[in-house]
Formats: sequence, structure tokens, C-alpha cells
Amino acid sequence: MYVHVPFCVRRCTYCDFPIVVGMDGDARSRYMDAVVAEWRREALPPGPITSVYFGGGTPSLAEPRDIGRVLEALAARAWVPSGTEVTLEANPGTMTASHLADYRQVGVNRVSLGVQAAQAHHLRRLHREHDVAEAHRAVRQLRRARFDNLSVDAIYGLPDQTLAEWHETIRCLTSWAPDHVSLYALQVEEGTPLARSVGRGTSTLPGEDLVGDMADLAETSLPAMGYRRYELSNFSRPGRESRHNRAYWRHHPYIGVGAGAHSFSGPTGARRWWNGRHVRAYMTEALSGRDPTAGEERLSMAQLAGEAVWLGLRETAGVSLSAFRERFGVELEQAFPGVLGPLEAAHLLRRTPETILLTRRGMAVGNQVFTRFLTAVLPSAVDP
Ligand code: SF4
Repeated sequence: MYVHVPFCVRRCTYCDFPIVVGMDGDARSRYMDAVVAEWRREALPPGPITSVYFGGGTPSLAEPRDIGRVLEALAARAWVPSGTEVTLEANPGTMTASHLADYRQVGVNRVSLGVQAAQAHHLRRLHREHDVAEAHRAVRQLRRARFDNLSVDAIYGLPDQTLAEWHETIRCLTSWAPDHVSLYALQVEEGTPLARSVGRGTSTLPGEDLVGDMADLAETSLPAMGYRRYELSNFSRPGRESRHNRAYWRHHPYIGVGAGAHSFSGPTGARRWWNGRHVRAYMTEALSGRDPTAGEERLSMAQLAGEAVWLGLRETAGVSLSAFRERFGVELEQAFPGVLGPLEAAHLLRRTPETILLTRRGMAVGNQVFTRFLTAVLPSAVDP
């Protein structure tokens, strides 16, 4: 279950998420009413909800009682087992000690803290609303509030970022002994202030080699500190992998509520649908009892097969050949003729008797590999 919470204090330069800046407390609460109204229209999920993820935006700007209302509404219509992972994305600087205790009280048991960098000049340039001291304080408050499943995020490949600064960011994050660490390469999204600044030449991005060195540094230093890389951008202590993200990578069904949220029926129904990104239009629709769905697509078996391999390769465990055969009724190699061999020859992919996996080099250029599976013309064996 994904709940999009679109409030932000200000817009970061690289952000293209559906968000609103400057919503007051009443409007935020009405937005959460809209989320509950939308959920009440949803078809019930066939099984238990094993993960609830409040993503944003800045969900830590929502009142704990509003987060609690959504969780109560979920539990009123669906089976939410007691061990369900309930994650709240939080930004340092938007949290108070009493709010944290209240989030915990209403059922949040995991926090994902967006730190992004450990240097004040990078945070300022990204237009983040916090400074480094606030990030330190936030972690102390979270631990004091007894959050024992804490994830932290950072971004590399920032304009003018040096390898030494990236090393400092990794050291800073790991000094807090988080349970989970997400390290993302900066994506420059079209239409963002960052894209315009890069276009004008006022921001200079690090070259490919330096970004590669930053990825290598993450890959070597995190395991040395007890974190296992289990996905391209994610590292965790044993047993602290993100259940929520794993559900996406494993093609499990999910329901998304809120502006711009996506849902997926799972492989059986093979349908994906999504809400409009405009927050106020979404509220109007959902609060009037109308369906806020803005679009949908039906996925063919061939599309599902391409996605299953693409998503599966993101995990370091790779794609199980027997699971693929069982699901699609055909060997993976037959489903993608002429794709595996060249990727192996280029040392981007390797095969074991049971799996295919990205090599270290393949992980560095994952998108090149994924494109081969997503654009392959599949034989009739997969899509009769
Ligand atoms: S805090 Fe996150 S969602 Fe909000 S503007 Fe920044 S990047 Fe976007």
C-alpha cells in the first residue's frame, strides 16, 4: 500500500514529484480526508497488506492523528497483520520529538530519513529545507522515540560534488548506525530548476568516471561496515531490507492512493492504473466521491516478462530461471532470444545454473541492460 503525501516546505531543485508547497494545516488534513475517501472506493486487496508506505512529498509534515486515521481506515477494510511494515518518509527539520512519539503510537514502525548530503553548501544548492545539524538532531530524536528500523538516503553525482565530499556523506550517514541505507545517483529530470541550471551552464555535473567512482566507493565501503547491498541503490543490515520496495521489484500487487499514486493488480490481472498528479484536482475528485483515476494500461504477457526481468535484475540475488519458467511457461533464454549472449560477452550479465545476475559492471550501467529486456521483441511463446 502506497500513500502519497504531497506537502513540502519548499521545492528542491531536482524534484519532479507531485507536491504542493505552502499548504496550511487544515488543507493538509483535508488532503488526508481525500486519501481516506479514495481508499474507501478501492476494491479490496485479495490478501493481507504487508507494507504501508507514506511517501512524498514530506509525510513528516502530516499530523500524526491524520497518519493514524489513514491506518485505521486501512485496517477497517483490509487485513493488516500486526507485523506489517509501516514506513514514513521524513525530512530533518520537519519533525518534533512529540510528533515522533505520536507517529510511533499510531503504528509507524519504520522511518526513511532524507538526508541527501552532509555538506551545507550542497544542501543549500539543492534547496533542501534542512542543514547538517538538523539531520544529526533528527536521528537522535528518532532513536529516542524508539524507532529501531531507520533508513537514511543520500544522493551522489551532485553539481560540483567531489569524491571526498561523497566519502564524508557516507561516513556521516553510517556514523548514525542506521538499519538501511539508500544511495541514489542524481537524476536530472526535465523541467526542473536543476535541469534548467545545467542547460544554462550554471551547474556542472560530475563526469561519468567520477560518478562511477562514487558508486564504487558506496559499493565497497558499505559492506565493510556491515551493510549488504541487496539492490542497485540499497544496502541493509541483515533482515532490514525494505519490504515495501522488494514488493515492487518482485512484481507483487500494490495499491497507491493520493495524487499521482500508481497501482498494480499483480501479474494475474496485469493492469496498472494511476491518479492525476495535480494535488488540488485530485482532492476535488476524491472528496466528491468520484474516482480520481487518470489513466490505466493493460500489460501483455510479453510486457510482464520484460518487467519481471528488469525489476528482478535490480536485486543482487538476480532473476531465478526456474521461477521465470514457472510463471511464463518458457525458458528465459527463449523468451529473449539474442539478448543474454551479447550482455554476457560484454561482461554486463552473468549466468549461474539457477539465475541470471548483473555483474559489477552491469550494475554501474543498469539502464543499458534493462533497456535490452524492455525493448526486446518477444517471440510468440510468451505472448500467444
Ligand atoms: S522534499 Fe522530496 S518531495 Fe519535497 S521537494 Fe524535496 S525532493 Fe521533492
